[in-house]
Amino acid sequence: MEVIEDFIPVSNSNRPQTALVPTHITVHETSNTSVGANAEVHASYVKGSEAEERQISWHYTVDDTKTIQHLPTNEIGWHAGPEGNSHSVGIELCVNQDGNFQQTRQRAIALIQHLLEQLSVSNDHVVTHYFWTTKTCPANLLNNWDAFLEEITDDSNDHGDGPSPVGNQLRVIVDSLWVYDAPDWDARYTTVSRDEVFTVAEVLTVNGTTMYQLQSGLYITGNLKFVELIT
Ligand SMILES: [Zn+2]
Repeated sequence: MEVIEDFIPVSNSNRPQTALVPTHITVHETSNTSVGANAEVHASYVKGSEAEERQISWHYTVDDTKTIQHLPTNEIGWHAGPEGNSHSVGIELCVNQDGNFQQTRQRAIALIQHLLEQLSVSNDHVVTHYFWTTKTCPANLLNNWDAFLEEITDDSNDHGDGPSPVGNQLRVIVDSLWVYDAPDWDARYTTVSRDEVFTVAEVLTVNGTTMYQLQSGLYITGNLKFVELIT
């Protein structure tokens, strides 16, 4: 996974260089829906004088195409109150209206999976800004936070570094499994049986869960508890 380093200068007051041993990862949304309010814009914002005056800083910003790092993970940022700041790495997800939030979300999941491993943080220590301060943040993800956490811990959704399943075949590994005639978990069409094989045409995320569009035009779950990819 590619992370662009664009650190806040050490001379800035919002980079106090206080040591951090992160035990948690704190997830935020920028709340900035303006057109163009992407990771690059926030990278320049967090280096600027307004962020110093407002005493804010955080570690990563993710948008639908980029992940930018603003602080090393062994230094504290100012993003989640005293308790949150002294224990966690802060990640902001962009919510600019011209961005694809589903892609931003998937990119954030890949980053968090990477950080959990790199920093030896346990899965149940991925938390919200709300957790520390009861601020309504990350506003969108809070609506379905459990699904977000499940995707982080569910290997079947880890497409980030692996080969794309598109063009490959999958095999049904349960006795009976629904297929859908639209990219919608309510659009149940018929069931298929164990050992039936299909070709993946596209990978989608529907309500936070991976769904494969098949070459037949039907849809099936991407959860590896129910299907296996044949490579
Ligand atoms: Zn926040």
